[in-house]
Amino acid sequence: MKTITTNLHTHTERCNHAVGADRDFVEAAIEAGVKILGFSDHVPMPYRNHFQSHIRMRVNELPDYTSSILSLKEEYRDRIEILLGYEAEYDPDLFPEMLKELSQYPFDYLIFGAHFVDNEYTGFYSGTETDEEAHLAAYVENVLAGLSTGVFTYLAHPDLIHYNGPDDIYEEHMRRICLATKEQGIPLEINLNGFLYDRHYPCDRFFRLTKECGNTIVVGYDAHNPALFSDAETLKKAEALIKRLDLSVTYEIPIIDPHHPKLP
Ligand SMILES: [Zn+2]
Ligand SMILES: [Zn+2]
Repeated sequence: MKTITTNLHTHTERCNHAVGADRDFVEAAIEAGVKILGFSDHVPMPYRNHFQSHIRMRVNELPDYTSSILSLKEEYRDRIEILLGYEAEYDPDLFPEMLKELSQYPFDYLIFGAHFVDNEYTGFYSGTETDEEAHLAAYVENVLAGLSTGVFTYLAHPDLIHYNGPDDIYEEHMRRICLATKEQGIPLEINLNGFLYDRHYPCDRFFRLTKECGNTIVVGYDAHNPALFSDAETLKKAEALIKRLDLSVTYEIPIIDPHHPKLP
């Protein structure tokens, strides 16, 4: 596997489940050979019902996040290109409002991580193990609806849904994601954070499908700790997957301008 020169999947302490100063992520990325580093912390959501999420920054933290990343961008500009983004959900009720909140500040891109179908308080976490085809189908519907907004640069951990049922049912539903992203030219991510914790993703049965459908594949650190950038064991697991399935990986990732959506 080549050096990951572009990494668009980086978190910060603001999400409450990452550790390390913003600057430490930058230093660690430079050390690892990253040339373009995108911060994409979990997007804040403008909840109307006083729900408070413990896994994302609050809307009122947007100014601090923005100014911190922009000042690092300036400070490090001779050593690395820093981009400012978010890993966003597709909550159909809140999506337009969320974009409006974000757009009060500058940002470069969005990646799509479908952690919750369809929202965080009444929906379900995609990574919960399930044998229900309805959950798999709902996850795919949420992903397809999110993709149709045209704002996303790529789909993070597309295989986050933890369906443990038969391959043929899994493939029938997940193929829809592969075909839609292929059609739109949206890459799918091999997620290194999943390998770090030996989670159920990245999984072979999904990436076999991407190969069959001819998808573009990228690698994302999904760093919640600067140490991930120097974790050779995790990189080895990704390398083994790529080799096992003979995947072709793209190391240059075209950014989609979220202010000018690329409609499918
Ligand atoms: Zn996270
Ligand atoms: Zn992430």
